[in-house]
Parts: sequence; C-alpha cells; structure tokens
Amino acid sequence: MVKKSLITGGAGFIGSHLAKCLLDAGHEVTVLDNLFTGTKANIYQLLDNPRFTFMLHDVTQPFWGQFDEIYNLACPASPIHYQRNPVETIKTSFLGMMNVLELALKTKAKVFHTSTSEIYGDPFVHPQPESYWGNVNTIGIRSCYDEGKRAAETLCSDYVREYGLDVRMIRIFNTYGPHMHPQDGRVISNFIMQALHNRNITLFGDGTQTRSFQYVDDLIRAVRLFMELPHSRVKEFFKDHGMSVPVLNVGNPGEYTIRELAEETLRQIPESKSQLVYEPLPKDDPKRRKPDISLAGELLGWTPDVPLQTGLARTIEYFRSI
Ligand code: NAD
Ligand code: UDP
Repeated sequence: MVKKSLITGGAGFIGSHLAKCLLDAGHEVTVLDNLFTGTKANIYQLLDNPRFTFMLHDVTQPFWGQFDEIYNLACPASPIHYQRNPVETIKTSFLGMMNVLELALKTKAKVFHTSTSEIYGDPFVHPQPESYWGNVNTIGIRSCYDEGKRAAETLCSDYVREYGLDVRMIRIFNTYGPHMHPQDGRVISNFIMQALHNRNITLFGDGTQTRSFQYVDDLIRAVRLFMELPHSRVKEFFKDHGMSVPVLNVGNPGEYTIRELAEETLRQIPESKSQLVYEPLPKDDPKRRKPDISLAGELLGWTPDVPLQTGLARTIEYFRSI
C-alpha cells in the first residue's frame, strides 16, 4: 500500500529534500507550508508529480487529513528569521506541534519531529549526549526558538507517555546543503554568498566558537532509517537505554571553528576577493557544539558519510547555479 506522508515545513531547506526522498521511495507526499522562510522554488520539480500535493497553510491553525506519517519541520531555523517575529516562532513550535500531535492521535498516524541541538543551549557537557539537559536562557533573544523546541519535545514526550502515540524525535545539529536560502543568514550560506560576491566574510566574535556541520543527505538517510523501524523495536531500544521517549542526536561530529569554516570556504572559492572581518558576537551564541551520535549509530547503524570539504563543495556548486 502507498504510504501517505505529510511534511509540515516541506518547502524549506530540509523539508524539500525529505519530500523528494519520500516521493522517490513511492510515498504520496503532502507539503504543508506558509512559505515564511521556505519557497516554492525548492519544490518546483516535485509539483508535477501526481503523488505530490502542496497545501498553503499555517501550522499554528488546526488542519485535517488522513496520513500514515506526519513529519513536523515547520519552524524558521535561522537566528535572523526566528528572531524577526519571536512570538510567531514560539507559537509555531508549540501550537504547530500540538496540532500535529492532535491530528496524529485522531488518525493514528506516526509522528516524526525535528528537534534541535539548540535545546542544549550553551552546553557545559561536550560532546552532547541525549541525556544532557542543556543550559538554556529562558529570557534571551534565542529563547523563542530554544524554549519553543524544548516545549515541543515535552509535548511529544507527554503524548507518548499519556496516549502511547508513536512519536520519534531527532535533535538535528547544524545541517547545510543545496536549497538553503541564499539570504538565510546561517553561517554556511552567508560565507558562500559573501565569498561568491566578493563581500566581506563576517566572523562574529573572534571566530573561535565551534560548530559541527552535517551535510543534508546524511540527515535524510538517518530520518528514513529511524522512521522505517517497527514501533516495538523503537520502544524496546529506548527502554533498554532508560529513556521513555525516542530521541536521537543526528549530526556530524567533525568540529570546526567558525574561522576554519571561513578559511575552507575561501580555499574552495579561490577567485574570491573577500576579506575576513570581525563583528560582535550575537547574544547567547553557544561557544561549542558537537554531537555524541553513539545512540544513532547503535540503533540505526548510521554514521555520517559526507565530510565538510565535500559537502561544502556541493553546496558552493548549488549557490553558483542559482
Ligand atoms: P527552513 O527555514 O528552510 O524551513 C522551515 C520551513 O517551515 C519553511 O519552509 C517555512 O516556510 C516553514 N514554516 C515556518 N513557520 C511556519 C508555519 N507557522 N506554518 C507552516 N510552515 C511554516 O529551515 P530548515 O533548516 O529546513 O529546518 C527545518 C526544521 O529542522 C526546523 O524545524 C528546524 O528547527 C529544524 N532544524 C534545522 C537545523 C538546520 O541546521 N538546518 C538544525 C536543527 C533543527
Ligand atoms: N556566524 C558568523 N558569521 C555569520 C553567521 C554566523 O560568524 O555571518 C556564527 C554564529 O555567530 C554562530 C555560528 O556562526 O557562532 C553558527 O551560526 P548559525 O546562525 O549558522 O547557526 P547557530 O548559531 O544556530 O548554530
């Protein structure tokens, strides 16, 4: 039987890759998106597919449909976008999650939720395992996103414990690749666009803060492996690890300073005349981030395949082409 999948936020960067992957696997795919940060350009090549439907809708408003699986991705992910309308951001995280879970409960759908490494905040534990509770400011400028995502995890957990709903969560660590919006504001798209257009490369702070960058194909492979597992296997695995709720870190543990990223970007765009410039570090910017991915390895037999140099080259090629 053809699986029916709904992807909220499916016109965004990650959602559009997931939509294509599920269509390629034979699913019927509905994308629900309000196009706040997503764009129809990301899904143009899918629109002609008879198994694809686009629904222009805001996830904070209830919606209806019979699906086997619901993937919840709707939420702006870049600091400049999620801070532009912070009340809308936290509403999207919380009410959007609530609407997804209520629909799943009524229709017996399986839920996948994209959580984030941001739930660890500016971490005291390094690398971050799933068991770490994090260090997050509740009243800072990043809180609308971080706390929204933490509340969404809490909602998922209570729907699992109270109703036995099949919900699976991944905490995504910084992911990049084609279909990122060129004005997205995240570091990889910023540096590539700046280098391609000979503008200054803006290093925030002294550039020694670190991130672990994952190429989008590695993430999508992990999502598919996780969602294909039987519910009984998922429950048993997390129970054996002392967790009542299925949540996995998914990211590439290769850790780079932001300065190293800038230098690698310039190495890969040798014709660029861009210079490195230093700008103030945004408030509450985490100093270090690196996933402990041993749980994902054990459950899914998954490790990331694409090193930063390779993924960056593919992403640069994409930005040159648009
Ligand atoms: P993105 O901004 O490209 O995609 C988000 C999508 O959600 C966009 O298409 C946007 O229009 C849509 N959206 C936003 N608010 C909405 C609303 N109220 N109703 C309906 N649609 C709405 O970002 P992305 O990088 O593709 O992120 C997708 C998901 O993955 C997000 O939930 C994000 O928090 C999560 N995530 C991403 C990363 C990353 O590094 N890319 C890391 C951690 C978590
Ligand atoms: N950053 C930077 N220059 C930019 C954009 C971002 O130095 O033009 C830094 C930012 O301060 C952070 C890191 O790069 O330390 C990653 O930022 P991004 O917004 O991509 O993701 P997040 O902070 O959410 O991990």
